[in-house]
This record gives sequence, structure tokens and C-alpha cells, in this order.
Amino acid sequence: MMGKVTFLGAGPGPADLITVRGLRALEKADVVLYDHLVDKTLLHGLRARLIDVGKHSGWHRVPQEQINTMIVALARGDENVVRLKGGDPAVFGRVGEEALACVEHGIEVEWIPGVTSAIAVPAFAGIPVTHRGVADSFCVVTAHRRNDEFDFAIPPFQPRMTVVLLMGVGTLAAWIEVLHRQGYPEDWPLAFVERGACADQRVLKTTVGEAIEAAAAFQLKSPAVAVVGQVVTLHEVLAWKRDSGARVQPRALFATSTSGAA
Ligand code: SAH
Repeated sequence: MMGKVTFLGAGPGPADLITVRGLRALEKADVVLYDHLVDKTLLHGLRARLIDVGKHSGWHRVPQEQINTMIVALARGDENVVRLKGGDPAVFGRVGEEALACVEHGIEVEWIPGVTSAIAVPAFAGIPVTHRGVADSFCVVTAHRRNDEFDFAIPPFQPRMTVVLLMGVGTLAAWIEVLHRQGYPEDWPLAFVERGACADQRVLKTTVGEAIEAAAAFQLKSPAVAVVGQVVTLHEVLAWKRDSGARVQPRALFATSTSGAA
């Protein structure tokens, strides 16, 4: 007998952005390995053993190799393992590496996608990543830098494409330079959404030319998503989220999700 590994996306920010399927998987888990961006209220009241393998940029608490080994060992011990990640596991979540390790060892896997911050965090600021006649495509780029050889995969300027950058707070000056090099105009709209979807969400609307100074004055902190493109201007009219929203109580959350299932 072998256990099974479920790769599960928690969504960004508050716990109630997880999917119904995801919540059910958590309730059935024997062991949950989770990352630091996951809202910890999701873990309250679970019968599962909880293992924190949270990684911080520049300070990897548990090396990836070791996480892979742990997942495989737990599943081999006949455990129902849930690997819980922030947002969607397939968006800069290394699900591929971990799933490959499982498949190599003949372990059954399941993927439960999550709401990704790349799309949802702009949405919480009233910024749709596409808009008819304004943006017909969007791309999601990592602004995390592993070493000096790596350059950001920012495409050449296209007026009708939105560029969303994740993990970009610490590397801001470097990727702004790439935007310049790739032909993005100085006055092209750029927004940062910090702690998107959370009660203390903050939005900074600026331009490519002024972003570095504006972010410094704003004291921008991680986690934040950067959105570059004309859709950013919609924030002024479409911003809908009041930042005083109450947090969901975990008990209420679980009561709703399991009602009728008992
Ligand atoms: N798999 C995740 C992304 C992991 S990379 C997903 O699909 O969302 C981590 C980056 O996601 C952060 O550096 C930040 O850019 C972004 N992020 C995640 N949650 C966020 C939030 N609540 N507000 C703003 N950015 C967030």
C-alpha cells in the first residue's frame, strides 16, 4: 500500500479563497506540508499532522530536495499527504519538481488548482488583467533572481499586453531597467498591490518611470504583485474593495464547507 500526494493551491491572502475541493482534501489529510504564504487559519481544527516547510526568499528553510524526499517518504508510509502552497501550485510553486519526484517513485498524485495571485491580486484592486480593446493578452513573469546569469523574461513592449510580475519587491530596480530596455514608455501605467485580498491590502498606482521612487516612498513590502499596462488605469474607477474587511473566522469557514457532509 502506498499513500497519495495531493498538490493543493490555497489561493492568495485570506483562507476562504481556497476551493471547496481543496478544503475537503485538507479535512481528509493525514499530513499537511505547507508554505509560508498560506493563511494559517486554514490549518486550524484539522486532524492532520502539520509540517512547516515554508520558504522565504533568500532564506530557504527546508531545501527543495529535502521537501521532495519528505513527501515521497510520507506517501510511502501509506499517508494521505497534502502539499499546500500559496496561490496556485503550478505558478512558481515548483509543483512540477515535487510531482516528478512522486511519479518517479510510483506514488499516486492529484492536483487541485488554486486561485493564483497573478490574476486575483490585481482583481482585488479593480484591475482586470484583460479588458476588451485595451489588453488582449497577459503574461506572468517571475522577478525572482536566482543568480546573475538569469535575466527577467519580460517580453518586448506591446501596448495591448498586460505584464504581471511576482516576487518583484526585492529586485525592483533590476526589472524596471529591463522594462526600459524592452521599450516600455516612461509614462506607462504600473501598479503594485501589496497583501492583495487581505484586510490590510495597499495599492500604489504609478508609472514605469516613477516606480522606483514611488515604491520607496510607499515603503512597499512583500508580498506584492506588480501590474504593468493600460488596464492599471481602470483601478481608478473599478477599485471596489474596502480595506477594512473583517477576517473570516475559521470555525464559520469549516462549518459552511462541511454542512451536509456529516
Ligand atoms: N503560487 C503562487 C505564487 C508564488 S510566488 C500563486 O499562484 O499566487 C510568491 C509571490 O506571489 C509573492 O512574491 C507575490 O508576488 C505573490 N503573492 C502571493 N500572495 C500575494 C498577496 N496576497 N498579495 C500580493 N502578492 C501576492
